[in-house]
Amino acid sequence: MSDAHFLQRLTETLGPDVVATAPDDVAPWVSDWRGLYTGRAQAVIRPRTTEQVSQALALCQQAGVPVVPRGGNTGLCGGAAPDNNAANVVLSLDRMDKIRSIDTIANTMVVEAGCILGNLRRAAGDADRLFPLSLAAEDSCQIGGNLATNAGGVNVVRYGMTRELVLGVEAVLPSGEIFHGLRTLRKDNTGYDLKQLLIGSEGTLGVITAAALRLLPRADSRAVVLAAVDSPDQALKLFSLLFAQCGPRLQAFEFFTGACLDLVLKHAEGVQAPFPDRHPAYVLVEIADTASEDLLNSLLEAVIGDALECGLCQDAAVSASLAQLQSLWRLREEISESQRADGLHLKHDVSLPIEAIPAFMASMEARLLARHPGIRPFIFGHFGDGNLHYNLSRPAGADPKWALNEGKAVSEEVLEEVARYDGSISAEHGIGQLKRESFLALKDPLELRLMRAIKQVFDPSGIMNPGKLL
Ligand SMILES: Cc1cc2nc3c(=O)[nH]c(=O)nc-3n(C[C@H](O)[C@H](O)[C@H](O)COP(=O)(O)OP(=O)(O)OC[C@H]3O[C@@H](n4cnc5c(N)ncnc54)[C@H](O)[C@@H]3O)c2cc1C
Repeated sequence: MSDAHFLQRLTETLGPDVVATAPDDVAPWVSDWRGLYTGRAQAVIRPRTTEQVSQALALCQQAGVPVVPRGGNTGLCGGAAPDNNAANVVLSLDRMDKIRSIDTIANTMVVEAGCILGNLRRAAGDADRLFPLSLAAEDSCQIGGNLATNAGGVNVVRYGMTRELVLGVEAVLPSGEIFHGLRTLRKDNTGYDLKQLLIGSEGTLGVITAAALRLLPRADSRAVVLAAVDSPDQALKLFSLLFAQCGPRLQAFEFFTGACLDLVLKHAEGVQAPFPDRHPAYVLVEIADTASEDLLNSLLEAVIGDALECGLCQDAAVSASLAQLQSLWRLREEISESQRADGLHLKHDVSLPIEAIPAFMASMEARLLARHPGIRPFIFGHFGDGNLHYNLSRPAGADPKWALNEGKAVSEEVLEEVARYDGSISAEHGIGQLKRESFLALKDPLELRLMRAIKQVFDPSGIMNPGKLL
């Protein structure tokens, strides 16, 4: 089928309000959030229903047209940006944003893939329930994108990754067939769990159109402490102490270095230094429960009091009001945006066995500084999950194109060191275009063979998100 004929059939079938082909209408859909990747596409499809997704994919498969599923475009690996093939179509789920149902007896929620995460969290809250997936991009990312990347976020230490919060998935395969896996059952041991293949598949197997999610009791009482630590080793000891003393109430254990805080203080508006002195690193801890806030604050104050006494932290600020709690969180949440304002950073989203983090950070920094004098690490992340965002900026005074020129070699060193500690090169952001080469080089050959076989079953003509992941 010629391009013109394909576009004509697509437009006739779905309608001109669903298919955009004018270059000016397509242009906003071909770049990623960080502006690292800009590709090409002949059309953007914005369906309103699962049936329209099915019609679109069937036509694309017939014509051999590559399809790039797109959620909120907050992914950090270039997964939702098309490659340079002018035949691509971008399929955006943004119009499929309905909450289909909330069941407060079964504690489930069924939502369309284009539902913004923050909106569905608020809807769950209005029904007196909690959907615990939470991340700094939650008012832009979509639940379909969260499933496709198996997103993590700040509450994994308590509630697990996205795949642990999903009961069912509806998806459209490249053939146009609809995978009706939108079950809300807690228990269903009928063979292979196919929805789990779609979760984390980064748009390479099909298009997720809806999800059935687990809801939990609201844990509205919250207490937060920001503690200044001397080293990652202290952070690790503090984590063990809090885990033992706060148990399941421990909801977030975040880490960032003094360099990250400096960046936030420089670029984010309305933030203030939390302590009179600058410290090498900080941990931000949240505990939450249905119990009273006073009780939580007393618990946190007691544990942090012990930690200060034993020298496990140097200073600490416990939130005394919601406003304070939010301003402590902002110090952590503004890091990504402040990095963006600071220029191009090399980003690595790695995970390690948690007890190896201090040794990894020490050997990694020594190795990088020896080979790239003046390189500036900005390290933060979900320490309680063993997940570090190990980001690097060019040495002061270096060519602004440093990240583009030297980035590949530097990243290889980081990922090599991660492998030496039995870590993972992608903790929660996925592979996309950014890490594809390293993924293919480092992944176990048997695992790769199995993944390729699965891809072949779901997408025999290879139209789903080419150039990503595999
Ligand atoms: C400031 C900031 C903070 C962040 N913090 C975190 C964090 O703490 N934890 C974390 O895990 N991530 C984080 N991210 C990354 C990002 O928000 C997540 O990866 C998120 O899950 C992506 O969702 P999205 O809707 O934006 O997906 P997109 O970026 O649009 O797409 C991501 C991938 O999923 C595919 N895809 C999207 N929708 C579908 C669908 N319906 N069906 C099939 N495939 C689909 C795309 O093709 C692409 O490969 C952060 C990003 C930013 C900008």
